[in-house]
Amino acid sequence: MTKMTWRAGGCHCGAVRFEASLPDRIDAQSCNCSMCAKVGFVHVILAQSRFRQTSGAESLTHYTFGTHTAEHLFCAVCGVKSFYRPRSNPDGWSVNARCLDDADSLDLNLTAFDGLNWERHGHDLAHLSKEAP
Ligand SMILES: [Zn+2]
Repeated sequence: MTKMTWRAGGCHCGAVRFEASLPDRIDAQSCNCSMCAKVGFVHVILAQSRFRQTSGAESLTHYTFGTHTAEHLFCAVCGVKSFYRPRSNPDGWSVNARCLDDADSLDLNLTAFDGLNWERHGHDLAHLSKEAP
């Protein structure tokens, strides 16, 4: 079984903090959809049990568009989106790798996701939020 480590992260101002259980080499996706392309979000998609928000629940504001499946969550103070509920994985979370502490030291296995053509590719990510058996 892959060794997992809880790593902390958060928004710019520090109001919103979270922890994610991650392997040493982290699978991540860059996405070209209308939202991710603008903000440069680097996705690390996690099962529900591998994510916990540790502070700032009251500081989160949200935004939805299109199918309103994804819930984009932003810090109301600094505007940074450090994690959200992705359309591909509404049963899990997507953490922004750039918002993890010491992001420069992470070993990211970064692949491109064609979110611009979501209907064709969205299902490719669905397995990433499944709980380990
Ligand atoms: Zn903030």
